[in-house]
Amino acid sequence: MSYCIITRDDIKSKSITKELKSKIKAKYDEENPKCVIAVGGDGTLLRAFHLYPNSIIFGLHTGHLGFYSNYFVSDIDTIAKAINEDSYNIEEIDLIEVDFIDGYGNHYHDKALNEVTIVGPTRTLRIDVYIGNNFFEHFRGTGFCISTPTGSTAYNKSLNGSVVDPSLKCIQLTEIAAINSNAYRTISSPMVLGIDKIIELKSDDTHNTNAFVTVDDKPYSLDTFREMKVYTSKSKLKMAYHNRQDFLSRISRTFLNDNK
Ligand code: NAP
Repeated sequence: MSYCIITRDDIKSKSITKELKSKIKAKYDEENPKCVIAVGGDGTLLRAFHLYPNSIIFGLHTGHLGFYSNYFVSDIDTIAKAINEDSYNIEEIDLIEVDFIDGYGNHYHDKALNEVTIVGPTRTLRIDVYIGNNFFEHFRGTGFCISTPTGSTAYNKSLNGSVVDPSLKCIQLTEIAAINSNAYRTISSPMVLGIDKIIELKSDDTHNTNAFVTVDDKPYSLDTFREMKVYTSKSKLKMAYHNRQDFLSRISRTFLNDNK
C-alpha cells in the first residue's frame, strides 16, 4: 500500500497534511501511489485527478465548497486508519474524453472530470455542431462547455446549465454567449444527452484564432481551432468513501446552507 497527498496552499490544509502524514504508516510514494489524499477543495481534487488519474482518491474538504469531498476535517483518523488497513469503499465517477486538432493539424487528447471548454476570448468562434454524426447547428459566439454529471455544478452551473444528478448517465452541452441571427441559429438552451452521444465541433474558419481549450483546470492555448470530439470515457475516477452524502445533501451543503 502506498499513498501521497496533494495539498491546497493554505495554513489549515498544510497543517492537516502534516497531521495525516504523522498518522499514516503506509509508504509515501509520489511516483505511483495506490491512494491520493486531496486536502483542500474541488480544485485540489481536480489537480490530484490529473496528476494521478488511476489512483484511488480521498477528498478531504477544508474549504467552503468541496462538492466532490467525502471526508471532513473531523475524519483525519478515519482516513489514516483506512489507508493503514487498506480498507474503504469505492465509488466510480464518470469522466469525459476529448480529442481535438488545431489549425496546424496537431492532435491532442485528454480526460476531464468536470468539463471541457472551447472559448474564443477575443474573436467569436464559428463552429458547426454535430451530435451523434448528425449536423445539429451553426454556432457563432464565445464557445461551449461540455460537462460530466459531477461537473454540472461547476462552470456549467454558472452558464445556467442544468444541475445533473450523477446517478444519471449523460453528457451536457452548454453554450457560452451565442450570437443568434439569420446566419447563425442555436438551440439556446443546455442539451443533456445520453452517454452514447459523441459531440463534434468543427470549423475550417480562419476566424477561430487565439482559441483556448480547457480541460478542467488545464488550459491549451491554440493559434487556431479546427475540430473537437467529446465523448464519455470508458475509464472512471475511483473515489474512496465511508459515509457517502447523497446528491441533494451535497447540493445543499455546497450551494444553499453554510457549513452543512
Ligand atoms: P478556480 O477558478 O480557482 O475555482 C473554481 C471554483 O469552482 C472553486 O470554487 C471550486 O471549488 C469550484 N468547483 C470546481 N469543481 C466543482 C464542482 N464539480 N462542483 C462545484 N464547484 C466546483 O479553479 P480551480 O479550483 O482550478 O477549478 C477549475 C474549475 O473551475 C473548472 O473545472 C471549472 O469548472 C471552474 N471554472 C468555473 C468558472 C465559472 O464558474 N465562471 C470559470 C472557469 C472555471 P473549491 O473552492 O472547493 O476548489
